[in-house]
Amino acid sequence: MKTSKMQRVFGLLMITLFMSVAAFGQNKPTIYILATGGTIAGQGATEVTAGYKAGAITVDQLLSAVPEIKDIANIKAEQVANIGSQDMNDEVWLKLSKRVNELLKGDADGIVITHGTDTQEETAYFLNLTVKSNKPVILVGSMRPSTAISADGPRNIYNAVAAAVSPLSTGKGVMVVMDDKILGADDLAKTNTLSVGTFRNPNYGPLGIVYNGKPIYTRESVKRHTSKSEFDITHVTKLPRVEIILSYSNATALFVDAALKAGAKGIVVAGVGNGNMTTVMQNELEKATKQHGVAVVRSSRIMTGPTAQWDEVNDDQLGFAASWFINPYRSRVLLMLALTKTNDYKEIQRMFSEY
Ligand code: GLU
Repeated sequence: MKTSKMQRVFGLLMITLFMSVAAFGQNKPTIYILATGGTIAGQGATEVTAGYKAGAITVDQLLSAVPEIKDIANIKAEQVANIGSQDMNDEVWLKLSKRVNELLKGDADGIVITHGTDTQEETAYFLNLTVKSNKPVILVGSMRPSTAISADGPRNIYNAVAAAVSPLSTGKGVMVVMDDKILGADDLAKTNTLSVGTFRNPNYGPLGIVYNGKPIYTRESVKRHTSKSEFDITHVTKLPRVEIILSYSNATALFVDAALKAGAKGIVVAGVGNGNMTTVMQNELEKATKQHGVAVVRSSRIMTGPTAQWDEVNDDQLGFAASWFINPYRSRVLLMLALTKTNDYKEIQRMFSEY
């Protein structure tokens, strides 16, 4: 039977339509989801149970709760670890950072990392200093396990992918997307043990929000990060040991001595107020620096405000560095990376002022 002109035109139209739908699918950005565990992959016995196990379900199970992400991205998933993030460690950090760098050099347009919230601020900062790319890298977690009523994980994952596919997210440094907020890794703090809105940027304020599936940015970090970072862990297999020591009324030098005995190359003081500590601690740390070359950074147990140079403590005289706005947990990360290059306190001070 002879086909009419109308039928041929219709056929051609259908083929064009089919090809453009297929091409549109291929044009979706490729987002890798790297899973490391945490509550977001947690499972409870019932929907209201208090007890649950973090890092219990696989990345594929996790993503099956949020199929909508496939509408906005080509999703590829990998399980890097499956642990509660209280057990996060240097080995996983190095593996994760190396894998992120590798993927971003390849076909990845962005990376979303699922992570427990307990140490999310440390991992985010480690990546902020060691990822060599302007492409979006976003960490996401949840405060409620995947089996809970109103689990926050699926929405957080959707928002993280939505932020990762947006060109607006280029060059912003490593971020955390949770509770509809976009937070910078340079000033990240978990501020509440249970609330879904636990993460904040307490000094600088959030970078923006995700609204209706789109990121809206309201500020940018002026700190050095990612492609502008001087730290390169490509060939690093072990990070220098750095301990955090708290100061409080009556604090002795007990933990300073223990850290030195254990071979610490750096010590971060979570000091009182503006990075102060008991005189006995300070004297012991001065000895550690001057006699054993141990790098000392003063930070503060107070959540906001800088640990400033040239205030009550004369850092130049003691050979210490002050952390400015970097809290003790992030200071430890920066000091570990700093020590891969130098133990000179002036150089370390420069880094704490720039990052
Ligand atoms: N402690 C676990 C972790 O950090 C669960 C907490 C969470 O993810 O919210 O992985």
